[in-house]
Amino acid sequence: MSDTYTSVPELFGSLVFGDAVMRERLPKPTYQAIRKAIHDGTSLDISVANTVAAAMKEWAVEQGATHFTHWFQPMTGFTAEKHDSFISPTGDGRVLMEFSGKELVKGEPDASSFPSGGLRDTYEARGYTAWDPSSPAFVKDGSLYIPTAFCSYGGQALDKKTPLLRSADVLNRSALRILHLLGYTDVTKVDVTVGCEQEYFLIDKDFYKKRKDLVFCGRTLLGAAPPKGQEMEDHYFGVLKPKIAAFMHDLDTELWKLGVPAKTKHNEVAPAQYEMAPVFEISNIATDHNQLTMEMLKKVADRHGFACLLHEKPFDGVNGSGKHDNWSLVTDTGENLLNPGKTPAKNTRFLVFLTAIIAAVDDYAGLLRASVATAGNDHRLGGNEAPPAVISMFVGDELEQVLESIEEDRDMTEGHGGMMELAKMLPLLKQDNTDRNRTSPFAFTGNKFEFRMPGSSLSAADPNIVLNTAVAEELDRFYEALRYVPDEALEDAVHRLIKETIQAHRRIVFNGNGYTDAWIEEAARRGLPNLHSVPEAAEELLKKQNMELCISHGIYTEEEILSRHAIMLENYIKTIHIEALTLRNMVTKDFTDGLFSYMKAVEQEMLQKKQVLPDLPCNYEIDILKTLNACAEQLSILLDALSQETENAESIEDLSEKAHFYHDVILSEMSRLRAAVDAAEARVPGSFIPYPTYEEMLFHLRKYDA
Ligand code: ADP
Ligand code: MG
Repeated sequence: MSDTYTSVPELFGSLVFGDAVMRERLPKPTYQAIRKAIHDGTSLDISVANTVAAAMKEWAVEQGATHFTHWFQPMTGFTAEKHDSFISPTGDGRVLMEFSGKELVKGEPDASSFPSGGLRDTYEARGYTAWDPSSPAFVKDGSLYIPTAFCSYGGQALDKKTPLLRSADVLNRSALRILHLLGYTDVTKVDVTVGCEQEYFLIDKDFYKKRKDLVFCGRTLLGAAPPKGQEMEDHYFGVLKPKIAAFMHDLDTELWKLGVPAKTKHNEVAPAQYEMAPVFEISNIATDHNQLTMEMLKKVADRHGFACLLHEKPFDGVNGSGKHDNWSLVTDTGENLLNPGKTPAKNTRFLVFLTAIIAAVDDYAGLLRASVATAGNDHRLGGNEAPPAVISMFVGDELEQVLESIEEDRDMTEGHGGMMELAKMLPLLKQDNTDRNRTSPFAFTGNKFEFRMPGSSLSAADPNIVLNTAVAEELDRFYEALRYVPDEALEDAVHRLIKETIQAHRRIVFNGNGYTDAWIEEAARRGLPNLHSVPEAAEELLKKQNMELCISHGIYTEEEILSRHAIMLENYIKTIHIEALTLRNMVTKDFTDGLFSYMKAVEQEMLQKKQVLPDLPCNYEIDILKTLNACAEQLSILLDALSQETENAESIEDLSEKAHFYHDVILSEMSRLRAAVDAAEARVPGSFIPYPTYEEMLFHLRKYDA
């Protein structure tokens, strides 16, 4: 526990200007105005903002804050902040601490250095941040952090929060209309709930600093595999080493103070890989909290002498890291709309939402895939540890039977999931109505869906924007089909609609093993898209149906889509360009130095031997020198090729063509070079390699201990 707190409930949210603090410190009408604005998704007027600002400042100053910052999420995928102090000179050489409603509500950071994808010319530097009252402000490192949205001078969204809020609002309205039609008239709000499982690696900070690839690219670009990787599966859920446990404890404490409900922690499959999961929250807050979590992971790791790697594939040959997006819908009457209940076959409301989601994932599979497409995640999707690049849905045995029975008009009312007895003295275990399927990219897990494609470093906003909007679209189609049906015919009409939807979208449901080649072939037969890389996936953004989805629901304007498309490709190109330069740099400078030093050492050893014992053979030494010399020759050819192709790549004007070239040519040149270096590394003793090896990074928590 932290020094000043004695219990977790006392510690939790102690640095957050949350609901309880607001209730205590705000005049009742102001508090109610805020609650109403959050519920209705409307903005607040300036008099309310002034009162809130005064209370916020007073509270923040008590927590030690001297500054405030509008905290936003530009399209870099990271967060951004610019701090202003509360001081206001009084004219007599002293200062007051001031903070107005105007400062709370609106900020004007210089936006010119954030990616805009052509939305803004560089001379139009002005951008605005706008207070998001639905995500609580908090104090961190002496500043009051105010969650905000970020837009250009012309009002176009330049961030990830704005479209996320828009999409949640759209889904709320669509879900409400359907619920009201089905007779659930007491519901006045539907929220999207999200729980992000966050995977990460921890390695010794000193190791990290010695590897240019980790420092510049976040992933290793070369390194021979150690004799043992993850094949024994002895790390998964293994005993936490004390240094890791201490780190995790500290992380929990920091997150709890900030009101992030960190709940679960464990070792993951790959050596040096771990996971944390929070209790789910409303999507906007869950997204902000996930950003804070990623920041805290890095900060607390550093304090403990570790570097936290959030890259999707920091090491070749072992699992990469994801961010599983657990997603559901909850009403303000407290009901989870994806709870199947005891008899799902009879639960019309559940079936309406389930089939809308099935249709959404099928109709917009390409767009969903694109929402998680990054250079880092490309190394993960389709590898044999992560979901394949093909999107399919797992619903489990019971729901599968329910879907079948509806399709075939059979009666099916029985739920399953009986009680299991393991041994007489052990408690009876209730069986869940779905088993787990770890290989499905989009799995129903009891009362929520788990989208497993998002990469570990991605903003949680990205997949949820698409998911929310696509589901809203399908619910709207349902509503249009049902709105004029007379009451007495409604039940039948709903049933028919559910049945037709299942029939139309059956191809997306797949309950088998998603990692097999057989499934990839089957998916192709079913006509499901298999988008391998960012340049392929990016094209989805520009497809007519996908653009229409976003534009018609007011998530993005056409301009905003084009800008996001450009940013996606630009990011991809820049990422691989930096990787190519870093790889060349590491090979020519660091690795070559190690290789030649070792060759020289072997040569000297051989000469010495010849002087002292001229009759002894030197076959081993000669063999080493010959092999390494051949490696060196190969390196020279491959380095030239990479450098030539990088030049070619940079001369391409068209963004999409350039991105494809980076994917098709540069990445494969890089992997040819890497293969050659790794083969050579396997013949060179670690003491000659001037940076830490895979073996050290993955299996040694600290340079000098196990
Ligand atoms: P597993 O690793 O078995 O998938 P975890 O417990 O690690 O499960 O993570 C499950 C995540 O799903 C948690 O973040 C949890 O809060 C979240 N979750 C549970 N119920 C819901 C829900 N109704 N809506 C959104 N997320 C949910
Ligand atoms: Mg999971």
